[in-house]
Amino acid sequence: MSGSVRETVGTDLRATAERGAAELGPDATAQDLLAWAATTFGDRLIVASNMQDAVLIDLAHRAKPDVEVLFLETGYHFAETIGTRDAVDAAYPELTIVNARARQSVPEQDAEFGAELFAREPDRCCALRKVTPLQDTLAGYDAWVTGVRRVEAPTRATTPLITYDDKFGLVKINPIAAWSDDDMDRYIADRGVLVNPLVDAGYPSIGCAPCTAKPQPGEDPRSGRWAGRAKTECGLHGS
Ligand code: SF4
Repeated sequence: MSGSVRETVGTDLRATAERGAAELGPDATAQDLLAWAATTFGDRLIVASNMQDAVLIDLAHRAKPDVEVLFLETGYHFAETIGTRDAVDAAYPELTIVNARARQSVPEQDAEFGAELFAREPDRCCALRKVTPLQDTLAGYDAWVTGVRRVEAPTRATTPLITYDDKFGLVKINPIAAWSDDDMDRYIADRGVLVNPLVDAGYPSIGCAPCTAKPQPGEDPRSGRWAGRAKTECGLHGS
């Protein structure tokens, strides 16, 4: 695609995001947002999930039963997370799970950069295993849906419901941005939604196994991610 065509597409998608945000307003429900996304983007829509729970997947499946689900298969996940992905695949047979993988396997990365890059240069490891695969995958879509919530972290406190994602060049929809932890618990109980067993084991925010610890009682739920480091985000949603 030439630069000028890509710019035109970007301008159109930016306008679509602005129009959607204006039409739906700041109090739109998750169902309204996903219905709009499914109607507006059809098969050019993908839903990202870290397989902590299937709330967003369940909501999206109700709006578009054959929706595609993006899972960043970093090669470093807990077995429970892979198990949750497989359970989602079995529970929602109409949807397709797109496993986005890094260009290098973990052994190939180890050979080039040395073992345990995550312990020495987590930003580089996240760039190789999360950001680039996400970029590669999102290039095939016009919009992505994420489960980012404002209460999760100060860096997420102003998350919009619909926006144009400058970093990845497509529309970003955050249907549960305004949901509280109670909203999540209620939806999970009401709908019998799948939850990663690590949540009940004390992990409120689950990422790659080497970079996820249990937060201390009373600490920010995301404090177990890259514990002991200043890093708080993978580079997918914030700084
Ligand atoms: S979370 Fe850790 S293991 Fe996963 S990609 Fe980032 S640095 Fe690497």
